[in-house]
Amino acid sequence: MGKDTGFKEFTREVPSRRPVAERINDYFEVYQDFPEERVQTQGARCMDCGVPFCHNGCPLNNIIPDWNDLVYRDRWRDAIRVLHSTNNFPEFTGRICPAPCEAACVLGINEPPVTIKVIERTIIDHAWKEGWIKPEPAAAKTGKRVAVIGSGPAGLAAAQQLARAGHTVTVFEKNDRVGGLLRYGIPDFKMEKHHIDRRTEQMSAEGVEFRMNAHVGGNVAVDDLRLDYDALLLAGGAEAPRDLPVPGRDLKGIHYAMDFLPQQNKRNAGDRLDARFDILAAGKHVIIVGGGDTGADCFGTSIRQKAASVTQFEIMPKPPDERAASTPWPMWPMMLRVESSHEEGGQRVWAIATEKFEADGAGNVAALHTIQVGPPPKFDKIPGTEKVYPAGLVLLAMGFTGPVRNGMIEQLGVELDGRGNVKTGEDYQSSMPGVFAAGDMRRGQSLVVWAITEGRKAARAIDAWLMGESKLA
Ligand SMILES: Cc1cc2nc3c(=O)[nH]c(=O)nc-3n(C[C@H](O)[C@H](O)[C@H](O)COP(=O)(O)OP(=O)(O)OC[C@H]3O[C@@H](n4cnc5c(N)ncnc54)[C@H](O)[C@@H]3O)c2cc1C
Ligand code: SF4
Repeated sequence: MGKDTGFKEFTREVPSRRPVAERINDYFEVYQDFPEERVQTQGARCMDCGVPFCHNGCPLNNIIPDWNDLVYRDRWRDAIRVLHSTNNFPEFTGRICPAPCEAACVLGINEPPVTIKVIERTIIDHAWKEGWIKPEPAAAKTGKRVAVIGSGPAGLAAAQQLARAGHTVTVFEKNDRVGGLLRYGIPDFKMEKHHIDRRTEQMSAEGVEFRMNAHVGGNVAVDDLRLDYDALLLAGGAEAPRDLPVPGRDLKGIHYAMDFLPQQNKRNAGDRLDARFDILAAGKHVIIVGGGDTGADCFGTSIRQKAASVTQFEIMPKPPDERAASTPWPMWPMMLRVESSHEEGGQRVWAIATEKFEADGAGNVAALHTIQVGPPPKFDKIPGTEKVYPAGLVLLAMGFTGPVRNGMIEQLGVELDGRGNVKTGEDYQSSMPGVFAAGDMRRGQSLVVWAITEGRKAARAIDAWLMGESKLA
């Protein structure tokens, strides 16, 4: 273990965020650098528990106590070896994972938990800086060909694992850049995109071929893939957005979050967009419908675009400031979460529902008519709480209903589960032999850590299906 009295001597410390006045004028990551010596001290707090509950919290089964100890002992090279043994991309999870491991940390019963996420991020950043991350091409090729559809974290993790097992892997991506929601959902201020580019270079050097602007079921025929490849992995995410079908929905100025967020990431990448289709918050009263992560990302982006005001609606009641009694340790706590975006201005409104949109004279949205509601499951309307909010831009961020069905999924004819996701067995294989699925396309809207987990597990299943056995972890 780190230091046997570390958890008594040191308290939890995490990097500070850059001052609000500075960070709302750029799109760089919000966190300040944190010296490695202080991260080592944080590693000393780990108790190396007999039953490390942090493992239960992490779908990847990251071997957390081991790398906490190695960091404390200044053995960074060993730490990255252990970290990479379960996670292909710790630089992604170390930045944007909500860290269920920390919620499950034993120290968290009566003290602030170990700063597992910061330690993870520091290990991988240190390793990149030292030049330790090199391509790891397979020693021998199997001659088997696998098509991975979708370059989000699930597809990338699977592709890297499969290439390292010796298969010839092609990733088909309908967008112009690699990364899925890492690239075009998650704003740069949460994760800058050079992290993806660096991994893409590593994977290309390991033999993975990336085909961009390749829409399977669109400009790439599904039947051709079935003929050309020995196995297919569907990792296309859960891209069908949930709508708000109330009167006035078709007014101009009401957009899905995922029509808005990618535009800003593209601008940051230096792309010139067609101004006719610009969705911009500048100077407008912005209402975000949906209180989750996607809504928070729209919030921070609107603030950076200099909206006149930003308001985020959530239909659920406001959660408690501390862990709710209904979610005791080591469960994922139900409690108020304040994202970096929420420190930057604007307001959040809880227990509110939108009844209709109001237009100006030119067919643009001008206001939302709302009412306060009671708790779930009934969300009873509370008479007398009606209110009108002015709005020049409305962003719908109420989650996703599952994968897009028309196109690839319909053409393949794979069976779907009751929630509309691609149905698989425990071996990640769909109803069609040789067609596998992973990530949000299989489990519905989820987290990056789950996508990487599923990508790895699906890769192992594909490898075993192709070769009769698999040595992949
Ligand atoms: C705005 C936003 C913010 C989020 N923030 C966080 C966060 O902070 N932390 C976190 O853990 N999770 C977050 N999530 C969730 C997380 O991003 C997803 O769970 C994760 O990216 C899913 O990975 P995936 O590989 O399954 O799918 P995706 O990342 O959705 O990637 C799927 C890819 O497949 C491509 N594709 C789809 N169909 C086809 C086709 N027919 N042909 C070719 N390509 C295709 C898509 O273009 C896309 O690039 C966020 C989600 C959103 C929307
Ligand atoms: S539960 Fe917390 S203290 Fe225990 S091993 Fe895991 S990180 Fe260390």
